[in-house]
Amino acid sequence: MRKTIIAGNWKMHKTVAEARELAKALMDGIKADLVGVALPDIVLCPTFVCLPEVLTTVKGSALAVGAQNMDHRDSGAFTGEIAPPMLTGLGVTHVIIGHSERRQLFGETNHSVNLKIKAALKHGLIPIVCVGETLSERDENLTDSVIHHQINSGLHEISVEDAAKLVIAYEPVWAIGTGKNCETGEANRVCKLIRRTINELYSKSEDGKEDSAKPKTPSHVADSIPVLYGGSVKPSTIDEQMEQSDIDGALVGGAALKAEEFLPIIKGGAKRLKLSSSRA
Ligand code: PEP
Repeated sequence: MRKTIIAGNWKMHKTVAEARELAKALMDGIKADLVGVALPDIVLCPTFVCLPEVLTTVKGSALAVGAQNMDHRDSGAFTGEIAPPMLTGLGVTHVIIGHSERRQLFGETNHSVNLKIKAALKHGLIPIVCVGETLSERDENLTDSVIHHQINSGLHEISVEDAAKLVIAYEPVWAIGTGKNCETGEANRVCKLIRRTINELYSKSEDGKEDSAKPKTPSHVADSIPVLYGGSVKPSTIDEQMEQSDIDGALVGGAALKAEEFLPIIKGGAKRLKLSSSRA
């Protein structure tokens, strides 16, 4: 059974005091409404400066804390960057890698994403790897090839054992922060495609040759990798999204900034968890 994960990307929002208040409100809401309910994995991703406060606030609760980015190097003269050991030293467990805003606004590439995934895995951080097509790529029918390329280059030279530790988020760029949802059936199709692409990447030909015409031993590594959907997820969309075969949770931006919107999304995740436990 795959994990169900609800992650909140707070982006560049919230002061330290506001971040503490939001984390507290979420904990109170969970205590009030979800007592005795099996919870999905919940990951809060505040800005770097809010990480210590949020970690302190959620200590002892079911909430985990992730970073929104990191450098791939351990230390050095890289002004303004944050290294993986600095995150693990605080108690951070997850890190978002390759968010489309990082790719579009800060020059991140599939190569830098690959380096960051490797660094996160080396330091025991769980990477939440974002992939997704732009609107023009979708209009030109390039969605599947963009996803294929992002997965294959992002996971380049990552062992199958390490690949099993990943979380992938399918985030169509045109749906992020726009209020436009990817149609649920289509989002599920792409999440399934992501899973198939990873399985193909790790399938091995019997003679070990990459270009071999011989049949390959299929890999099932991605069958247990959670694939999340992200892009204008709201309380009104989550239930349908969580009923899909291949969407294992959500990466949420705008709606993660208010407890009254994020709590119903967490509840949607709890419903999926119940559904998948009954199917298992
Ligand atoms: C995101 O930032 O990853 C995201 C999905 O944002 P939003 O939910 O606001 O579209």
